[in-house]
Amino acid sequence: MDIQLIPLADAQTHVPPTEDFGFCVHFANRMFTQRYNHGRGWHDARIEAYGPFALSPATAVLHYAQLIFEGMKAYRRPDGDINLFRPMENMRRFNNSARRMAMPTVDEEEHLEAICRLIELEHDWVPRADAATLYIRPTMVATDDALGVRASANYLHFVIISPVGPYFKEGFSPVPVYITDEYVRAVHGGVGEAKTGGNYAASLYAGEEARRRGYSQVLWLDGREHRWVEEVGAMNICFVYDNHRIVTPSLTGSILPGVTRKSVIELGRHLGYEVAEEMIDVHEMLADVKSGHITEVFGCGTAAVIAPVGKFGFHDETIVINDNQAGPVARELFQHLTDIQFGRAPDPFGWTYTIRANGH
Ligand SMILES: *Cc1c(COP(=O)(O)O)cnc(C)c1O
Repeated sequence: MDIQLIPLADAQTHVPPTEDFGFCVHFANRMFTQRYNHGRGWHDARIEAYGPFALSPATAVLHYAQLIFEGMKAYRRPDGDINLFRPMENMRRFNNSARRMAMPTVDEEEHLEAICRLIELEHDWVPRADAATLYIRPTMVATDDALGVRASANYLHFVIISPVGPYFKEGFSPVPVYITDEYVRAVHGGVGEAKTGGNYAASLYAGEEARRRGYSQVLWLDGREHRWVEEVGAMNICFVYDNHRIVTPSLTGSILPGVTRKSVIELGRHLGYEVAEEMIDVHEMLADVKSGHITEVFGCGTAAVIAPVGKFGFHDETIVINDNQAGPVARELFQHLTDIQFGRAPDPFGWTYTIRANGH
């Protein structure tokens, strides 16, 4: 891939102290960008200074939300090199999202190459502090500047990177989750399977309502019957039955197919758990929590890796899971996954992709 490297004109900003990372509020000095036009295809690939884009107020994405993104991380290994975790899964999903949103696909190998070049140049931004990572956000937006409702003929693809602190600052503490049977995130035939901004916009109202009730995330049910468990916030969800059987909702078309979900399924089997993908009825699930048949619940996604759920709120009821404590299965999966991601343990699955840090 021919990427033009534009020299930085201004003084570079330095990596802030780990305590100040927050979640994606500071960005590295450079970003990757390329443009697409129906006639020319992808062109003008560059790595340039991170900074604002000049966009017409009529830019298509600002009106009709034709937009996709990805979320992945770079992990600092003990030997100083840098790991990506199953990056081709993200490259593939980016293109699946692009197809669903009537956008052009990008070459998957070249997309990964662009990300690696960017990280090599900005390798200082991959934190060395324990459990901190570099978040990577590939994005594509429609850039026609006209208000007609149709797939754009022009697109901007960019990658920005930002250091993030540990997700769990006070230990591996469970999150309270509110189950809504009023609002839905996605419907069959809709765009729930695509990583597109509109899914998030549609979820904010219920998220704020959950927060007002003292919950930090929303558990979404299916859009047709408001009965089948789908996912939680920006994470997939898993239930542990009797400490040995892990069940996650089957991918029905309205659930985002998470890379962490897929890894939990594969790693869970490797560790000797029985793992199944099934339709999960919310009422049966809550009865199983109350009876103690379900021993643990946890979310899984790139940001948290594994996030234990301590309680569910449903209508006016509170249902506590495992005494509001993180359980052994969540702990075991979290430990194994993060050890592989950070290169602290052997990777029998070939999931990690190592970038050599400069001068090494
Ligand atoms: C990104 C995302 C996930 C988790 O996917 P990972 O690949 O594991 O990070 C789950 N649900 C939604 C809605 C998402 O956008």
